[in-house]
Amino acid sequence: MDTVPFYAECPNCGSERVQPGLPRDELLQLLEAGAEIPAYCSSCDEHWTVSTEERVDIARSLARPKPK
Ligand SMILES: [Zn+2]
Repeated sequence: MDTVPFYAECPNCGSERVQPGLPRDELLQLLEAGAEIPAYCSSCDEHWTVSTEERVDIARSLARPKPK
């Protein structure tokens, strides 16, 4: 499955944590529906949903052609 990884800042430790990401279609659906996108920090065992700014970054990365 073609997943799109993204970064999200952990609200607990403040670190940028790379997320394994979701399939491109699923991410697009969540963005278009205004649904929450989940993120996770393995250091803190913390789950949260990405911020509006991060949603914009994700939308941008989806618009870019896939790097080779
Ligand atoms: Zn954390």
